[in-house]
Amino acid sequence: SVVTVGELAEAIGVSAVEVIKSLIRRGIMASINQQIDYETAAAVAAEFGVETEERVPEVIQQASAAIEHQLREGAGDPEAQPRPPVVTIMGHVDHGKTKLLDAIRETNVAEGEAGGITQHIGAYQVEVQGRKITFLDTPGHEAFTAMRARGAQVTDIAVLVVAADDGVMPQTKEAISHAKAANVPIIVAINKIDLPSANPMRVKQQLAEVGVVPEEFGGDVPVVEISAKQRLGIEDLLEMILLVADLMELKANPNRPAIGVIIEAKVDQTRGPVATALIQSGTLQLRDVVVVGGTWGRIRAMFDDRGRRVRRAGPSTPVEILGLLEVPEAGDLLQVVDDEKTARDLAEERARQRRAETFSEMRVVKLDELHAGIEAGETRELRIVLKADVQGSLEAIQNALAKLNEETESVGITVVHSGTGAISESDIMLAATTGAIVIGFNVRPDVAARRAADASGVDVRYYNVIYHLLDDIRAALSGLLTPET
Ligand code: GDP
Repeated sequence: SVVTVGELAEAIGVSAVEVIKSLIRRGIMASINQQIDYETAAAVAAEFGVETEERVPEVIQQASAAIEHQLREGAGDPEAQPRPPVVTIMGHVDHGKTKLLDAIRETNVAEGEAGGITQHIGAYQVEVQGRKITFLDTPGHEAFTAMRARGAQVTDIAVLVVAADDGVMPQTKEAISHAKAANVPIIVAINKIDLPSANPMRVKQQLAEVGVVPEEFGGDVPVVEISAKQRLGIEDLLEMILLVADLMELKANPNRPAIGVIIEAKVDQTRGPVATALIQSGTLQLRDVVVVGGTWGRIRAMFDDRGRRVRRAGPSTPVEILGLLEVPEAGDLLQVVDDEKTARDLAEERARQRRAETFSEMRVVKLDELHAGIEAGETRELRIVLKADVQGSLEAIQNALAKLNEETESVGITVVHSGTGAISESDIMLAATTGAIVIGFNVRPDVAARRAADASGVDVRYYNVIYHLLDDIRAALSGLLTPET
């Protein structure tokens, strides 16, 4: 729920000025009509000795409860039926993710499914041994991460592509971390085995070293050797996916109103907002009224991944939908509701909440006030935007900060962005939105940056000796930094 600064002041019986001052102490510059989120409001109220209890609007309460119930108890639902696995392909750049997605899709088309030209809608389904598999066809882990950031988990299985001639690379490791963090099982596809320089055994050893232990080494990770280019091993990979899926016993109830996640969305010149939804549970039908993130609509038309018009879409099916009033974001939840009024209320409330949250997250942090925040238990992280004159000093500072980070227990130090060159306006904006301070080493802000810093109140500090910089941060963490005047 959301309140304005004025409403909050009235509710806790202090003047709006007092509330605004309290917000400024938290790094939030607000006017009397600004909406703030519940968490922020509760913290301000607590400062004035007022306890609060969140009152979630009823529409939101009911909608959230329905979603939670359906997704959590989906598998235990007596009407639940097996559903196709949803697979994401991840891996280092150039290791063959796109080629593999194409190979899988084309292998399947060659098998002779009638009608339709493949359309890029963000996901597609193939049929193997009479069973379906859904692939998200945004290669890489942007989609995966963006959706997880919004709390949506759509992937059941991750296929990790590793080129046999190149081995485990930085983005391979990143992909592994993402999959593990999301608790998604990994199948490794060692690609490009057609190359003379291919060395699958070395790849498996490297994988074992980073904790992805192949079955052949006694681990639990299936490995399939493929050539996306020459279409070798593709069937083996698909069968392996089905095998892993079987162990997971993926189920959902198709006989109820749909819940899904948006995986792509855009505005089409002639068709208006177009979004691809991946249905997670239930069945989406033509004419259904849906709420999607902060917008809503009535399903006017639906298309499958071959561009064919469809009237319904069940669990694990991707469909392109028309009829939304605005363009949603990837990761937004789609939910069917009873009528347009509920949809409108729900969408409005969600949109309000989102605006308030975004605003409350924009906080300005002052290094010399850091310790007060730590003591109050509000600060657990010091974020830094770091600019330096040359790469060498940048690396030296980053290493020193990393070391300092290990020494300090109470607060984590995070460099949200680093680079060489003058401090720019975009550095200041980034700091303002992420609640970071800006550190310039042997660099100065340009004119626009200086203006932005003044306007936003972002704390910008300049150094030309590394240990002075570290001393200040250490002092700030322990509350010994004397305020700059
Ligand atoms: P992505 O960045 O992971 O999506 O990689 P791509 O699918 O774009 O592939 C990168 C390059 O590797 C392209 O030039 C592909 O033609 C090539 N490639 C992909 N798979 C294979 C393969 O199995 N064998 C060989 N020799 N080349 C491949």
